[in-house]
Amino acid sequence: MIGNEAVARGLYEAGVSVVSSYPGTPSTEITEFVAKYNEVDAEWAANEKVAMEVAIGAAISGARSFCAMKHVGLNVAADPLFTVSYTGVNGGLVIGVADDPGMHSSQNEQDSRNYANAAKVTMLEPADSTECKEYAKLAYEISEQFDTPVLLRLTTRIAHSQSIVEECDRVDVPLKEYQKDVMKYVMMPGMAKKRRLVIEDRKDKLVEYAETSGINRMELNDTKIGIITAGAPYQYAKESFPEASYLKLGMLWPLPTKLIQEFASKVEKLYVLEELDPYIENHIKAMGIEVHGKDTFSMFGEFSNVSVREAISGKKDEATYPDYNPPMRPPVMCPGCPHRGMFYVLSKLKLVVSGDIGCYTLGAAAPLSAMDTTICMGASVSAAHGISKANPELSKKTVAVIGDSTFIHSGMTGLASTAYNKGTSTVIILDNSITGMTGHQQNPTTGKTLKGEPTVAVNLEKFAEAVGYTRIKVVDPFNVEECERVIKEEISVEEPSLIIARRPCVLLKGVKYDFDVNISKDKCKNCKMCMKIGCPAISIVDGKPEINKTLCTNCGLCKNICKFDAITL
Ligand code: SF4
Ligand code: SF4
Repeated sequence: MIGNEAVARGLYEAGVSVVSSYPGTPSTEITEFVAKYNEVDAEWAANEKVAMEVAIGAAISGARSFCAMKHVGLNVAADPLFTVSYTGVNGGLVIGVADDPGMHSSQNEQDSRNYANAAKVTMLEPADSTECKEYAKLAYEISEQFDTPVLLRLTTRIAHSQSIVEECDRVDVPLKEYQKDVMKYVMMPGMAKKRRLVIEDRKDKLVEYAETSGINRMELNDTKIGIITAGAPYQYAKESFPEASYLKLGMLWPLPTKLIQEFASKVEKLYVLEELDPYIENHIKAMGIEVHGKDTFSMFGEFSNVSVREAISGKKDEATYPDYNPPMRPPVMCPGCPHRGMFYVLSKLKLVVSGDIGCYTLGAAAPLSAMDTTICMGASVSAAHGISKANPELSKKTVAVIGDSTFIHSGMTGLASTAYNKGTSTVIILDNSITGMTGHQQNPTTGKTLKGEPTVAVNLEKFAEAVGYTRIKVVDPFNVEECERVIKEEISVEEPSLIIARRPCVLLKGVKYDFDVNISKDKCKNCKMCMKIGCPAISIVDGKPEINKTLCTNCGLCKNICKFDAITL
């Protein structure tokens, strides 16, 4: 199983009954796999904060519950995380968080272990799929024994790599009794001050558990080199230095102080091997122990067995792994992508585009190059409002672009805030009727649940109307003339406006274009306008544009760009 599937299996076997998550690579599959179990009520939430609050509610009511998110999602959910640490749980509460060292598909590199430390929440980190399943189950025992939420941290490599997992039966966990307890669950200052002391007491007990439970284990071999590590780096180190001694950590907060001291006293040269921040290293150094960490290993990106071997041995590993430079594959939107038409128009109009997180972020890539900023989920709408408030000159040529799922995630608040604050910016919702970037998850606009059942769908037009928009236009992003006209109209008015560019993702089941798109060699004037949409199906062959029929989806957008009617359907 891949690590994410193994976590899902662990949740099932642990008797979890409620799961609420927001998709985000590399965490998405946990929720997709767990949704296949009928015993589990699994859902996509509007965002990570909502997901965590649903899971908290379920846990307080007495059920074992779970939510999953990627590292940046934990920023969104940080508010409830810090307080659920104070309230504790009733039924077990586990929060899956998947970090992305190397930023394979993320806007930043972020080390979630710092959240465990800051929020004083127990954190476990598995090093293979077996541990993914076992730690998911163990996390519920710890959660209920110590009355704490537990963070289950994965990284991309563990979440997406495979190892053998043995399946067990599901345990039937009855709902724990719910008892109203205002002192525990209502965090007003008077109660919170008392709970603050409970957290310190809990930490002491957890340290004792970390020292003695066996989740952190010493593997004593040759003691010339001792390595303290966890997660994927443990695998890299074991492969490179099988003869070395290890302190393999499974619990990352709190850390086992006595065990670290004992291990350090047994080895000659001590390394701490950890991706991203010097989280364990700082802890060890604060204990007054000499250790090699970021003086030897990188602060950035993912490690590998080669990089670990080279760093410790100080020698380049050319013999086994010769350098090779695979050709770069620039990120590009799919052939037939409905966002392409809108980005073509935005690029043509040379507008300032306040962008957002989703597959449409690829509109920043050449040749469209139609994106000025991408900060975080939902920031496009609020940043466009900020631009138009601050800079009257830019105000008339700025638009925000945001996908339907991202709009529900955190664009809605920016839209309400813009109208309320008498903003004049133009927001374009790129509504492709699905959450595209993470692999086609449903969201509250699609009319289907995670389990595929029909449900209510948010009406974006009515929502905008309800928060004060009077200028709401719906366009087809492939109708470039219409898009251009409507955008010009909307950016010129002194009112907030919303344009919904609606066309389903070309990869959705049922989206099929029954044309046969061709370029006439005779009519083509070789102006290369069709190249400006950046469709991977069009390339220059023998000096002229040609359509690659194996890539072309026959969407017809290029026909709408050609002024010489050289492209026919
Ligand atoms: S836009 Fe039309 S005329 Fe220009 S290169 Fe493409 S096919 Fe030829
Ligand atoms: S019809 Fe044109 S724009 Fe659409 S996929 Fe084919 S080549 Fe690309």
